[in-house]
Amino acid sequence: MSIADVVRTAADRYGPAVALADDHATRTFTELSDRAHALAGGLHNLGITAGTTVVVLLGNSVAAVEVDLALAIGGLVRVAVNPRVGPADWERIVADCTPGALIVDTGIDGAAEFTARTIVPTVITADGASSNGPTLDEVAARTPRHAKMPTPDADSLCALHYSSGTTGVPKGARRTHANRLASLQAMREHVLAGTLDGGDPAVFLHAGPVIHTSGLFVLPFLEAGGRQILLDHVGPAGLIDAVAAHSVTHTALVPTVVARLLDFDDARLSVMRRMRMLAYAGAPMPVEHIRQAYHRITPNLVQYYGMVEAIPPLTVLTADDHRRGVLHDADVLGTVGRACPEAAVEFRADDVCCPDGEIGELVVSGAAVSPGYHNAGTRTDLGKSHVDGFLYSGDLGYRDAGGYIHLTGRSKDMIITGGYNVYPREVEEAISAIPGVDDVVVVGLPDELWGQRIVAAYTSADAGVTDAAVLADSRTRLPDYKRPKAVHRVDRLPLTALGKVDRAAAAELLDGLVAAAS
Ligand code: AMP
Repeated sequence: MSIADVVRTAADRYGPAVALADDHATRTFTELSDRAHALAGGLHNLGITAGTTVVVLLGNSVAAVEVDLALAIGGLVRVAVNPRVGPADWERIVADCTPGALIVDTGIDGAAEFTARTIVPTVITADGASSNGPTLDEVAARTPRHAKMPTPDADSLCALHYSSGTTGVPKGARRTHANRLASLQAMREHVLAGTLDGGDPAVFLHAGPVIHTSGLFVLPFLEAGGRQILLDHVGPAGLIDAVAAHSVTHTALVPTVVARLLDFDDARLSVMRRMRMLAYAGAPMPVEHIRQAYHRITPNLVQYYGMVEAIPPLTVLTADDHRRGVLHDADVLGTVGRACPEAAVEFRADDVCCPDGEIGELVVSGAAVSPGYHNAGTRTDLGKSHVDGFLYSGDLGYRDAGGYIHLTGRSKDMIITGGYNVYPREVEEAISAIPGVDDVVVVGLPDELWGQRIVAAYTSADAGVTDAAVLADSRTRLPDYKRPKAVHRVDRLPLTALGKVDRAAAAELLDGLVAAAS
């Protein structure tokens, strides 16, 4: 099976039903298949042939999905860049991957200037803005009649997936067609399991970037005949409204967005109760937030884990696990669930496999794992490492006797204080359980005496919550060496372009706050 087969089969099965909708356009399954194939043919006609790298700068839109599918059908290598990271990172990515074409919505902030000075040889605009190159409509119109694309080899590249490198220079994980199809299968069997059968048609809401984790649901929903709604720049209130307006049954969010939903009252959240799946991934979600989400948003929670270099889902905490966890077995809520059978997940310390219960680095092999980074031979700043088909994830954790995987944190975030290893996650869990505390991040700041000193930033909607009270309460919840030396209330935690808590920015912020307070 290829991505082209998924698109074509969906058109045969569900033809006139609506496959995609954004604020401006809708596409039926037939229209989507025709358009994606026409774009693939038109790109070949322009000389942008299999193996060429194409940078895509589009927001969440029907066009973003059409282009994604067209590039996969045509055997091109997609480099989707996040509109939120801005021109400096777009330029670094272009310099690293030297693309043959750029597909851009010049309405995105900074995109018109970026396009005007780009060195990429062919520019195609999605928005019809004047430029030297054709528009997507013109490309689609240039497809040769009865063009037949050769099916890309399963091991050929379908994407370079860029994320921040350890020096801030983005690094591109190579992603193959086989990786993407492995994700389709594992999503269908372990994340969506049972939620697509029978009943009313499924409706997936892409509220997070479709170029990142939300995009992993594009193929499963095409395959299942579900409708996909794409929202660009939606806040939590808009998300709730969209669930009601489109009768959304499924969505996937990062934990920080779930936390923002919890700011709304139960009456406002009630429209989300009937959802068949609220998936979350990308960062740990405090157990207290999981409980609240279960009771106040929907009990149909699913968590999965994975990364750019090993396509999600590698592990899944199912809706049944959540029910059991909330009702009887709180421990399970602190895990990322069990490994999907297709992903070989193990823990290693000093290159030896750890027995159950012992902490090591999570190492994974199998069809989900990327074959490495682009330009790996010339770069020395690539944190995670690929060795003989195994990916060393940089995540620390262990498997318990029941097969559940506990992540203690990333190795680079671990705090060493007074000779003890402290995982920010356990301190964050303790502080977020304090009544009145909403979000919390814990970092280690350099300290002459201790090596590193534990400090925390937190948010609270309750004016009565003070730093002194949070600090005192945290002392009752943690053994002395894990206690923060200082806590600071902030308006909001710094976030990355993907909406995860930005630990480096939080450390900088806390450094300033600690200095100002002393
Ligand atoms: P990215 O490559 O940007 O998708 O980030 C992947 C990283 O996010 C992983 O290596 C983990 O550190 C973290 N992560 C992803 N999913 C989860 C999860 N469900 N729970 C905890 N951390 C997660």
